[in-house]
Amino acid sequence: MNDVVENLVKAYRKVHNTEGYIPLHPPVFRGEEKKYLLDCIESTFVSSVGKYVDDFQSALAEYCGAKYALATVNGTAALHLSLLINDIGMGDEVICPDVTFAATAAAIVYTGADPIFLDIDEETLGLSAEKVEAFLEHNTREINGKRINKVTGKHVKACMAMHNIGFSVEIDSLEKICLRYNLLLIEDAAEALGSRIGNKMLGTFGCVGVYSFNGNKIITTGGGGALVTDSKDLFDRAFHLSTTAKVPHPFEYEHDAIGYNYRMPSINAALGVAQLKMIEEFLEIKRNQIELLKTLLNKKCFSVVMPKYGISNNWFFMIRINRKDFNIQSLITSLGRSGIMARTLWSRISKMKPYQKYIATDNKVADKVLDQVLCLPNGVV
Ligand SMILES: *Cc1c(COP(=O)(O)O)cnc(C)c1O
Repeated sequence: MNDVVENLVKAYRKVHNTEGYIPLHPPVFRGEEKKYLLDCIESTFVSSVGKYVDDFQSALAEYCGAKYALATVNGTAALHLSLLINDIGMGDEVICPDVTFAATAAAIVYTGADPIFLDIDEETLGLSAEKVEAFLEHNTREINGKRINKVTGKHVKACMAMHNIGFSVEIDSLEKICLRYNLLLIEDAAEALGSRIGNKMLGTFGCVGVYSFNGNKIITTGGGGALVTDSKDLFDRAFHLSTTAKVPHPFEYEHDAIGYNYRMPSINAALGVAQLKMIEEFLEIKRNQIELLKTLLNKKCFSVVMPKYGISNNWFFMIRINRKDFNIQSLITSLGRSGIMARTLWSRISKMKPYQKYIATDNKVADKVLDQVLCLPNGVV
């Protein structure tokens, strides 16, 4: 194993051109961030009213090729909204992958709905279309156009697909299955900004797509998120709920629903406007870094994980260890000691205490993938 660590460390030191610590994905501010931030402060419109929120939303919608974008305080809030605007709540069930960041599942639970944790696909690392279809076929039946879970009697209303580390799920198949079984398709594209299939951006396939602009994501607004949609109705509902469900009025306070304060502040959006201008440059740098790494690595003990569909934003660089005597945890520890941050994909959500009471299938592919796939840095140098 030492030879592998040595080879990785040497390659990383060369490509990232540093002898210092290499984090997974540090934020990079080399555009007009400071200029916009200063301008935002000087305007005094640092909160939810201000031109930067509008500018960021329209720039994001244009970049993604979506009709509408709503900027939020973080990606988790946008996920929560994506479900609420589709009337998902108590008595409903939402299919999601067992391997994801906890926010995917937490957002479902916030609404009162129950997550159903299904297995991932070995290559896409995201929700398996085959497993979704099998679950719907065997565990649900149609009643008045709705898919009803045969055991719980609940309405399986949506499928929340997550594009793991920027790799597209089997989106075509999932779209077809959702259409056939009358489920809504929502994309947790928090990690997939800039990933695409042909010219279509991930996050724009479902009825709603969600992005995150946390500090470790492809671009950042400090903390922040967004949802994108082509539906004016869904956008309007999301806007309303995110702005405390206040009925527009010049001075009176009337709220027609239990709303949320989920708006992105202008000061964060100012960062976002500057960051979004850099994204294509960042993606190219990230792509080139991976190409260079590939030429420097001795791939006897592992393979480089490549996306099955489309073009990934290459959030992280991933390798798959295919030697039995390898232990991914000790590899991560060794790399850490040599100054290279590494991590596993995620853990299975269904095995965590707060989520054990929900339905999960026997997700064997998830276990296998989690034992083999290692995430390594690919921050913009
Ligand atoms: C980052 C992330 C989110 C949202 O995270 P926030 O920190 O709330 O912006 C949601 N889902 C996945 C899969 C993520 O990686």
